[in-house]
Amino acid sequence: WSLTVLMFIESFKVDSPNVKYTDDEIQSVYNYETTELVHENKNGAYQWTVKPKTVKYEFKTDIKVPKLGVLLVGWGGNNGSTLTAVVIANREGISWATKEKVQQANYFGSLTQTASIRVGSFNGEEIYAPFKSLLPTVNPDDIVFGGWDISNMNLADAMGRAKVLDIDLQKLLRPYMEHMVPLPGIYDPDFITANQGSRANNVIKGTKKEQVQQFIKDIRYYNTGDFKEQKKVDRVVVLWTANTERYSNVVVGLNDTMENLMASVERNEAEISPSTLFSIACVLENVPFINGSPQNTFIPGLIELAIQRNSLIGGDDFKSGQTKMKSVLVDFLVGAGNNDGMNLSAPQTFRSKEISKSNVVDDMVASNGILYEPVEHPDHVVVIKYVPYVADSKRAMDEYTSEIFMGGKSTIVLHNTCEDSLLAAPIILDLVLLDELSTRIQLKAEGEGKFHTFHPVATILSYLTKAPLVPPGTPVVNALSKQRAMLENILRACVGLAPENNMILEYK
Ligand code: NAD
Repeated sequence: WSLTVLMFIESFKVDSPNVKYTDDEIQSVYNYETTELVHENKNGAYQWTVKPKTVKYEFKTDIKVPKLGVLLVGWGGNNGSTLTAVVIANREGISWATKEKVQQANYFGSLTQTASIRVGSFNGEEIYAPFKSLLPTVNPDDIVFGGWDISNMNLADAMGRAKVLDIDLQKLLRPYMEHMVPLPGIYDPDFITANQGSRANNVIKGTKKEQVQQFIKDIRYYNTGDFKEQKKVDRVVVLWTANTERYSNVVVGLNDTMENLMASVERNEAEISPSTLFSIACVLENVPFINGSPQNTFIPGLIELAIQRNSLIGGDDFKSGQTKMKSVLVDFLVGAGNNDGMNLSAPQTFRSKEISKSNVVDDMVASNGILYEPVEHPDHVVVIKYVPYVADSKRAMDEYTSEIFMGGKSTIVLHNTCEDSLLAAPIILDLVLLDELSTRIQLKAEGEGKFHTFHPVATILSYLTKAPLVPPGTPVVNALSKQRAMLENILRACVGLAPENNMILEYK
C-alpha cells in the first residue's frame, strides 16, 4: 500500500440508505439544497430575503449500456473522418511511429474518457476516480458510425483530405475505413459558402418535404432497419458536424411555431435550412439530434416540435479552442473584480460563428452588478478569417484588456495554434456519450407524481457547447466551471453523492 496508489481508484460503489443498486438500475434519493427568493417593497426600495430550502428528489438510472450508433451529418469532413478514425485506432489498439516516439491511440481531451472526479479523502490524501466511473456509459470503442455528406468520398480518402492524422496512422487505418461511404446530404448554396459546390456530388434532390422524407427513411435504416440488424445497434444519436450555415431568418408565420414550420416545409419555403430539415426528421423519429455548428438550426418552431414530441435536442457549436479559454478567463476576470473588455476588429464575415462566440460572456458579466451597470456590456469583438494554408491547424489570437484597481489597465494576450479537429473530435464523443446517458436517467421532485426524463432541450451538455441551447425561460450558464459542476453534480446525485463543495471541512 502506498499513498500514491491510493490517489486514484478505478471504480467505486456508494453505500448509503439513500442509494440502491438493482440488476437494472441505480436508484437514489437526493436532498437538493436550494434557495427561494422573496422581495418586499419597503418605502420604494426592494428588500430581498433569501430562504434556504431543501427539495427531495428521486433519481433512477438504467444501467444497461446500449450499443450506440453515431450518425454524423458531414461525416466526410475533418471532424467526422477524424473521430471515426480515432475510435477505430483505439478499438484496434493501434500505435504508430512519429518523429519522437511510438504513439498509442488515446482519448485525450474527452471529459468522459480522461477526466477525473474527487470522491473523498483517505489517510490525508485526496482520492480521485475516473469521471466515467460515476455512472455506466458507452465505451467509445464500441461505437458504430454512419452518416451523411454532400461529398461521396469514402472515409479513408476523407481522412487523407482532412490532413489531420499522421500519415503512418492513416495507412494503418485505411482498410477499416475504405468501405465507409456517407449517404447523400442536402446541398443548398444559399446556406453554406458556395466554395463547397465542387465537392457536392452526393446530394438529395427534390422539395424540402421530399428531403425530410428521405432523411426519415435513412434514419429508419440506421435505427430500425438493416444497419441496426447487421451492426447490432440498440440506439442511434445524430450530430451535425457539417459546414456552418448562415443564420436563418426567424419570421412570424414561417418558422416561429411548430405548425408554421411544418406548413413551410410543405410549401417548400426557401428559408428552411438543411440543418433544420435534418433536425425535423430526427425529432419526428424521436432520435436525439445535436448541433455542433453555430447556426440557429433550432428555430422556435423546431424547439416547440421537440418539446411537444419529447425528443432530445442539444447544441449549439462545439466549445473547443479559444472559447473554452474565454469562458474561463472572463469568469476569472469578473470573479476577481476586474472590469473586462475584449478587443479585436470586426468585418462582417462568419456571422454565425461570431454571434455564438460573442454570447459567451453575457451571464458572467451580468452576474456582477458592481462592475457593470445593467445595460453595460464590455467591448467584445470577434473576427474570424479563413486562411487556406493553415488548413485544420487553426490560429487564434485573443486580447483581454481589463480595468483594474483605481483605473489601472491589465492586458492579457493569448496565441493558440492547434489542429481544430483534434480538439473537436473528443468533444463530439462526449456529446454523444452524455446525451445517450442522459436518456437513461429519470427523476422526480417531491410532489411530482411520476418519474420523467430530463427536459428535451439538453442543457446538461452546455460544458461542451459555445452557445448552450436552453428551453424558453431558462437561464443560460456560460462560465466553464459552473457548467462542469452542473454536469458532475447531477451525475453525483444519481448515485446519491453530495455536490462537490470544495470545503474540505475535515481538515479545518
Ligand atoms: P469540414 O468542412 O472539414 O467538414 C464539413 C463536412 O460537411 C464536409 O465534408 C462537407 O462536404 C459536409 N457537408 C456540408 N454541408 C452538408 C450538408 N448539408 N449535409 C451533409 N454534409 C454536408 O469542417 P469541420 O472542420 O469538420 O467542421 C465541421 C463543423 O464543426 C463546422 O460547422 C464548424 O463550424 C463546426 N465546429 C468545429 C470546431 C472545431 O474545433 N473543429 C469547433 C466548433 C464548431
